[in-house]
Amino acid sequence: MAKLGVLVYPRKLKERATAAPYFDNFAYRGLRAVIGEVDKRNHAVRYIAPHQIDECDFVLVSLTSAWDILSLIHYVPIRRRAKIIAGGQGLVNPRPFMQYLDLAVFGRAEGQINELIDGGRGANVLDVGKDPAAEGNYEYRQAQYLLGDEADTGCIRKCYFCGYGWTHRSLNRGGNYQASDDALYSSSEQFLSELRLTENVHYSAGLDGWSEASRRSVGKPFSNTSLVEKLKTLTEDAAARGWARLSLKLYMIHAYPWEKPLADYTGEMARALADLDGKLSSGRLVIFFKATPFCPEPMTPMARCLPCFDDAWRTMLKNQWLVYQGSHVEARIHMTVPSAAELAHMVFFRRAGREESSVAEMMSRPKYLSLTAGLKLAALSVRGVLGRLTDAAPWSGLRVPGLNPERVASQMGWTY
Ligand code: SF4
Repeated sequence: MAKLGVLVYPRKLKERATAAPYFDNFAYRGLRAVIGEVDKRNHAVRYIAPHQIDECDFVLVSLTSAWDILSLIHYVPIRRRAKIIAGGQGLVNPRPFMQYLDLAVFGRAEGQINELIDGGRGANVLDVGKDPAAEGNYEYRQAQYLLGDEADTGCIRKCYFCGYGWTHRSLNRGGNYQASDDALYSSSEQFLSELRLTENVHYSAGLDGWSEASRRSVGKPFSNTSLVEKLKTLTEDAAARGWARLSLKLYMIHAYPWEKPLADYTGEMARALADLDGKLSSGRLVIFFKATPFCPEPMTPMARCLPCFDDAWRTMLKNQWLVYQGSHVEARIHMTVPSAAELAHMVFFRRAGREESSVAEMMSRPKYLSLTAGLKLAALSVRGVLGRLTDAAPWSGLRVPGLNPERVASQMGWTY
């Protein structure tokens, strides 16, 4: 009988604290399905904290974001008895953290766990013991079937930047990804053009480009005229239902290769919202733009595009946080990953190729995490990470304006 642990990171929960900050607060649908499929007659499964890793034969680790990778590096010992099986949407390029896992499972893992425990290795499984430099070719495994109440997988839109859209085949009960009548995701992200109101006052939707040209360039052609019409319909619908306001969280991407942090960067959006405001005679619309920098995702048409690394994005987004305020419409920027340093973080994990774990360890230290954006960039520069990113990608060069990493390092007393 094998003992299986499902690793839960206490610090991660703290970072992502919400009103109910428990592990089970998140869907973790894929992980749940894998746990459900373990042959319980022959194996025992339980949730474990990091100090219990070596009480298990196998430990399952779900990677969904860069934060999970930082947690993996922070909590999983390099010397260990247990075999770490890592997988999930965040497992794209495991080379920078190979010491912290034994099996990397790419793509969907339904129907695979018992075979893995018994020593089977599918075409999507990287066995670090057999391929320590990750030189083999591996398959990104597709959905074999829909899990539980999952409505569908894949996305018919295929926005050019979207890793999910380009790595998941379509398997539908409904017809689209995260349809608004999907019970679990009824208020989760969907493209704004498809949003329709139900009983909620708060909605989330993707827009992913501040300007019409940017949206068109990433395969999301949604004109300003269509935007204004859609928001007008939604606001009037909410008013007709007697709601005091309609609250919309719109996901935005900035720092596309062709974009710069300009004084009038959100101007086109502000003008569209002013146009909308003038057309409304009733109702109230409050928009929060959730802004994240562009990150080139492997296996997408934009995988080889250089993001705009200008560190002035933070200031620009801060200065233009109030995008528009009028009689019926108010729109503000709510930043998530605002700076080039955080962007470099994400790019590092996804694109760096071969990387030394000493750099990854530096990036997981609390002292590093507490540095300002500029100092993080300087630290990454003096460790050579930014240079290696340039080498690893067909980019023409990476310069961080106004940053002298060597001078910063000497002022901070860093040795490198
Ligand atoms: S960004 Fe959203 S709409 Fe576009 S391909 Fe990805 S999942 Fe689909």
